[in-house]
Amino acid sequence: MADCDYLYKIILIGDINVGKTSIVRRFRDGAFDDTYRTTIGVDFAIRTLDIDNKQVKLQIWDTSGQERFRSITTSYFRNAHGIVLVYDITNRTSLEVAERWLMDVNRLCGDSPVNLLVGNKSDLIDRRQVTIQEAKTFAANHGMIGPIETSAKSAANIDQAFYSLAQELVQCN
Ligand code: GDP
Ligand code: MG
Repeated sequence: MADCDYLYKIILIGDINVGKTSIVRRFRDGAFDDTYRTTIGVDFAIRTLDIDNKQVKLQIWDTSGQERFRSITTSYFRNAHGIVLVYDITNRTSLEVAERWLMDVNRLCGDSPVNLLVGNKSDLIDRRQVTIQEAKTFAANHGMIGPIETSAKSAANIDQAFYSLAQELVQCN
């Protein structure tokens, strides 16, 4: 590849409404829109990050509404290098169902991807239902990196989350 040193396929998974589409959109466009509606075709982002002077291209895939059925097709997971598992810090159920997403990852991903746990909606701190400690325990128990708390709305930690994942991927290679 001429234009980058590394190319990674990253997929976002997690319960519906946790903010996956908003995270991808924030990362790609630097924007947030409360009225934004998911459409197939825009749930995709490519950005090249500079990691230790290496050009690391991330190809990021959103689930395009498939999470409604709590299952995602094999083709979506195939050849993923990294997984971003998103829950909503104001919704306890969204962390509880994360377990199920990981089972799908283990079943459907060929090689073991690097998994990052992301707690979104950190701007809604007064409605918090999941503590950072609980998320740390979850991540540790499942061999994940993170957790990182983000807000697609305020942009807090969105870039940092993808940088951490990219850094880990580069180190693994
Ligand atoms: P998805 O179903 O996981 O793709 O979630 P969406 O990106 O469609 O977001 C679901 C809802 O949560 C939408 O109403 C978003 O505007 C809202 N949302 C997403 N991220 C944030 C965030 O960081 N903070 C707040 N307050 N709302 C968010
Ligand atoms: Mg979505």
